[in-house]
Amino acid sequence: MKLEGRVALVTGASRGIGAGIARCMAREGAAVVVNYFRSEAAAREVVQEIEASGGRAIAIRADVGDFQQVKRMVEQAVAELGKVDILVSNAGIKGKGKALIDLTYEEFTETINNHLVGAFNCARNVLPYMRGYERGDIQFISSRSTDMLMANDSDYNAAKAGMDALAKGLAKEERYNGIRVNAIGPGLVPTDMAWESVSKTTGMDDLEDVDKGMPLGRMVRAEDIGNLCVFLASEEGSHISGEVIYVRGAVGAEPPPFYLPKSTS
Ligand code: NAP
Repeated sequence: MKLEGRVALVTGASRGIGAGIARCMAREGAAVVVNYFRSEAAAREVVQEIEASGGRAIAIRADVGDFQQVKRMVEQAVAELGKVDILVSNAGIKGKGKALIDLTYEEFTETINNHLVGAFNCARNVLPYMRGYERGDIQFISSRSTDMLMANDSDYNAAKAGMDALAKGLAKEERYNGIRVNAIGPGLVPTDMAWESVSKTTGMDDLEDVDKGMPLGRMVRAEDIGNLCVFLASEEGSHISGEVIYVRGAVGAEPPPFYLPKSTS
């Protein structure tokens, strides 16, 4: 197993991509902190599933946008599992899908606070611990949006581009402390967040139909992201740091052909 003896804190692991990452980390022997905010029952299910497969996991509630809550979560994780030497900052909310001229201050800062400030809160609170270990890994789940930079997505684009920048700068700051930092940019993954907007935008409600429209025959899956997280945190991935890595199934910077969100302005 590639992550035996490691402890991974995965934010937003109650559902979607985060739950997939938590399962992949556990499959490779890491003990996992399943962070959640509102979906306690779903988080407990992920924990039970990991335990049923012989792994170790605990669920901890914290709003990643709140520095003090994140601080307490990290303290609890270290107290219960001994350390946190892998952080996957994944928790996120949808962008508002509006032209900038229609965005309110509150809407813009809500998106920035959840993604970008959330990533800072998590990294800032785990780093003092990580510096004491031989190796640490920080992974920010960013988005394909930082390459596409589509219209009507400025809150989300800016938040995710900020996360890419955090990853690159932080990797340099921590390179002599054995801490690897990368950003991962998923393509379209059929989670609650993305499926709602795919079906609203395209009118398609059958996953198989959408899969058929993708270059490699399917959308990205949470496990594709989880497998990359495992690889980066493993010995094999140990020389990769300071990178933004997209996982999008041969879709480039253009949106997939069926997916062209309409202008809101
Ligand atoms: P999702 O299915 O909607 O799940 C979102 C997760 O984030 C949930 O576990 C939710 O927890 C958690 N969360 C939201 N706000 C939180 C907060 N303030 N504090 C702690 N947890 C919070 O979304 P997803 O599609 O898996 O997205 C995961 C990440 O991937 C996001 O950062 C997203 O931007 C990014 N991404 C997704 C796609 C895609 O196509 N799906 C593509 C590119 C990037 P609770 O339910 O417990 O509140």
